[in-house]
Amino acid sequence: MDSGTSDSWRRRDAAAVWHPFTQHSLWLDDEPLVVDRAEGPWLYDIEGNRYLDGVSSLWVTTFGHRVAEIDAAIARQLSTLDHTTFLGTTHAPGIELAEELLAVAPGGDRRLSKVFYAGDGSSAVEAALKMAYQYSVQTGGPRPQFVRLAEAYHGDTLGAVSVGGVELFHATYRPLLLRTIEAGSPGVRADGQTPAERAREAIAELAAILAAQGDQVCAIILEPLVQGAAGMLTYDPSYLAAARALADRHGALLICDEVATGVGRTGRMWASQHADIVPDLLVTAKGLTGGYLPLSAVLATDAVYDAFLGAPAAARTFFHGHTYTANPLAAAAALANLRLMADRDLVARAADLGRHLAARLAKIASHQGVHEIRQLGTMIGVEVRDVGERTGVAVCRAARDHGVWIRPLGDTVILMPPLGLETTEADLLVDALAAALDEVYA
Ligand code: PLP
Repeated sequence: MDSGTSDSWRRRDAAAVWHPFTQHSLWLDDEPLVVDRAEGPWLYDIEGNRYLDGVSSLWVTTFGHRVAEIDAAIARQLSTLDHTTFLGTTHAPGIELAEELLAVAPGGDRRLSKVFYAGDGSSAVEAALKMAYQYSVQTGGPRPQFVRLAEAYHGDTLGAVSVGGVELFHATYRPLLLRTIEAGSPGVRADGQTPAERAREAIAELAAILAAQGDQVCAIILEPLVQGAAGMLTYDPSYLAAARALADRHGALLICDEVATGVGRTGRMWASQHADIVPDLLVTAKGLTGGYLPLSAVLATDAVYDAFLGAPAAARTFFHGHTYTANPLAAAAALANLRLMADRDLVARAADLGRHLAARLAKIASHQGVHEIRQLGTMIGVEVRDVGERTGVAVCRAARDHGVWIRPLGDTVILMPPLGLETTEADLLVDALAAALDEVYA
């Protein structure tokens, strides 16, 4: 391989590559990191400089990079079966992972009992939306509407965009989209309003929507407790509990999109557990494989699954799937990740890490550059005060000079470190942010 320099790779990149969510007129100015290798929580650039991976490589790594047990599981799998289709055949990693996922799924008065695999978060959201609509068709009549939340983000495919509510990302595509009803975000509060007060207001709005149009709604879809891509907007668990009850009352399904919040991120295995609810469909992706390979899944209850059974001629089949569904290498990585998480009690460690970070962040809460800090477990958004265009970018760029790689969402600087981060590394993360804030607001 061309050893090159970061500069030479950047020039080749700019000549050949189109990056996601990227304004390429500024790409080279931002001096993107050319990552050469990674180990634990560290990313190394081509010159050998190391940076703490402060956003878990876009919210996916659980333990960190190059985890011996996950590496070994993928290598073992590679020595026997690389890939086979899940249409008409099956395999041990796909079956075992489904069993493991159901064993750790949130449970209570209802039980998630079947796993449908997809590739990324978005493709799993698409599957869940189609399942919910087809479920309504096959259990009493079509309900062509989804209730979605303002500020929601569920991915970038058109179904997922239809149920999104981040205007910057989604407004352009509105003429193309599915029929949805927007409910106010429980995470957007007026000045001085408490989370519980905002939840009460938002619940009343959701109840009114369902009272008026509930018989047309096949599902409510939401990100439980944290609207991540909107800038880590957190909300009160009472809203989630109420959404569960309202969905039941009006015969709609509840889809919890745990793509970002699931697999330990919030200090519980699933954010739904903070409100003690079980959705009808739970979507998981991101951290599922420990950050190694793309794999996602929709977990469904028997009540949903059973509505798809029937004679072939009845056409109740879920006619949906992807070529690489349940790829054995990705399934092996996920299985190793989930088992290691249990062995090492990683969810409890993530909760501890969240508490440690909260205590450290309290020290910068009164910084002149900080507007608000929002956090649940290891999902953290530090909203900074706008001092010109791209303030969030400027803060993250400054943090890089202090050995930390982080990315903003607008003017919210995101901290979302690997769940297994040591406290000294967590301190570096906060100290680098503090130093960056001092520089930008000097
Ligand atoms: N749902 C949520 C809540 C997300 O945060 C994301 C991505 O950030 C997605 C869905 C889309 O996942 P993917 O990027 O893997 O398609």
